[in-house]
Amino acid sequence: MRYLVVSDIHANWEALEAVLDATKGGYDRIACLGDLVGYGPDPNRVVEWARASVSVAVRGNHDRACVDLIGLDEFRDVAIESAVWTNRNLTEQNSAYLRSLPPGPLTVEDFGIVHGSPRDEDDYLVEPHEAAEAFAFVQNRITFFGHTHLQGGFQTRKGKVTSLKIPERTAEFDFEPDAEYLINPGSVGQPRDRVPLAAYLLFAPGEGFVKFGRRNYNIAATQNKIKAAGLPSVLADRLTIGR
Ligand code: ZN
Repeated sequence: MRYLVVSDIHANWEALEAVLDATKGGYDRIACLGDLVGYGPDPNRVVEWARASVSVAVRGNHDRACVDLIGLDEFRDVAIESAVWTNRNLTEQNSAYLRSLPPGPLTVEDFGIVHGSPRDEDDYLVEPHEAAEAFAFVQNRITFFGHTHLQGGFQTRKGKVTSLKIPERTAEFDFEPDAEYLINPGSVGQPRDRVPLAAYLLFAPGEGFVKFGRRNYNIAATQNKIKAAGLPSVLADRLTIGR
């Protein structure tokens, strides 16, 4: 079974469509690491796609916040504004789907999926020392996580945790047989690594590698929708710079 692994789509339909276009025929199932909504202008379209096409998913903090308006005290102003807007615009069925998503970690075949970290769905894994704590909680050799919007991840081998070195933007990364991995596909709809391209990865359990991918998309179209919806313009601007 081959998987397309996506995370942090954030209601950006154009970015998602570009990823689906780039990976067409390259996978059998889709795994989603949360944050389908929040920030972006197309929550219903993205959730309807997820309901029809995603095989396995965990919830993200924005999914939780947008449906029940909880945890907003940890959000910045623009995130609160977009959560309130999303809450108002989501259909009943799409809200119900988001509410039904489990917190993770989940095991799929022999790999794990979480939103933030295997320890806590809301933890951010940015630095190797943060990943070192998280590795104590993994239940599988390979666990996929999102939440930071940074493509890449970590490996631990003989007690040493290091960041993955991805050779290029679209590159295969080979697993070492005696290491464990926490791997982030990056964000589809709001990348934050100063590369304004939709991020994703392809993975086949047992094949010994993941393939990271990036894809350009019609950023201007998404930005126009953000502005037309009356969402904060900073949410449109950041897509240009990938931050
Ligand atoms: Zn996110």
